Amino acid sequence: MLDSKRVTKLLRRYLLAPPKCMLCGSEDCTASLPICSGCFPKYAAAALEGCDVCGAMPVDCRCFEVKNCAALYWLFNYRRPEIKELIIRMKHERLDYALRFLAARLVDQMLIKTNGAPPFDCVCFVPRSKRAALYYNHDHAEELAREVADLLQLPCVKLLSHTGVKGEQKQLSREFRGDAAKIRFEANEKALVNGKLPYKTPLLVDDVVTTGSTAGECARLLKERGAKYVGLCFLAHTPPHPS
Ligand SMILES: [Zn+2]
Ligand SMILES: [Zn+2]
Repeated sequence: MLDSKRVTKLLRRYLLAPPKCMLCGSEDCTASLPICSGCFPKYAAAALEGCDVCGAMPVDCRCFEVKNCAALYWLFNYRRPEIKELIIRMKHERLDYALRFLAARLVDQMLIKTNGAPPFDCVCFVPRSKRAALYYNHDHAEELAREVADLLQLPCVKLLSHTGVKGEQKQLSREFRGDAAKIRFEANEKALVNGKLPYKTPLLVDDVVTTGSTAGECARLLKERGAKYVGLCFLAHTPPHPS
């Protein structure tokens, strides 16, 4: 059932910001499928791109693991140029319909993998640095987390905070990212009850996962504060460079 608040929100959203194609920005699309007919073949090809390592579709790939995360849900191979562009657009613009659409794809995958019963009791997200939040003026990972939480009818909670950046992540080599992540996040004290998380099975949301060191560190912090089982969902995986 839709409550009146939700109806108002949807109306305002639809009237003030009509759906736009998430790949090219054209308004020739719908709220439930925010991709225009011209871009659809490109989207479909990107969505059918398998894992670089095992060749399986993301829903079936089992070759990629992230420390401290018991289950992974992801949609795209980041190597696809249209996916890269989409993620860059999401950082700069609020693509509400695209986030809703992609959140629904992630939840579909979750339902398939968990036989219709996702084991999560809340949704949280990898927080952006203050600088990034100021620069982009919104946080697409948090917005994606809110859409996923809404679809799963779970609370979306800020369980982690960013503690500041020591060197940009991009400039760090893969080996050092693990250590870099340790100084970048902490549990959000405001969300804790007697120093512990009031949730046992959080679902962590991010946009792109590369080595998984950032998400793994966030999951470690959640476990340190009492989480028993952490799931991770994200839009795209950057496959390892061929050696
Ligand atoms: Zn388009
Ligand atoms: Zn794989």
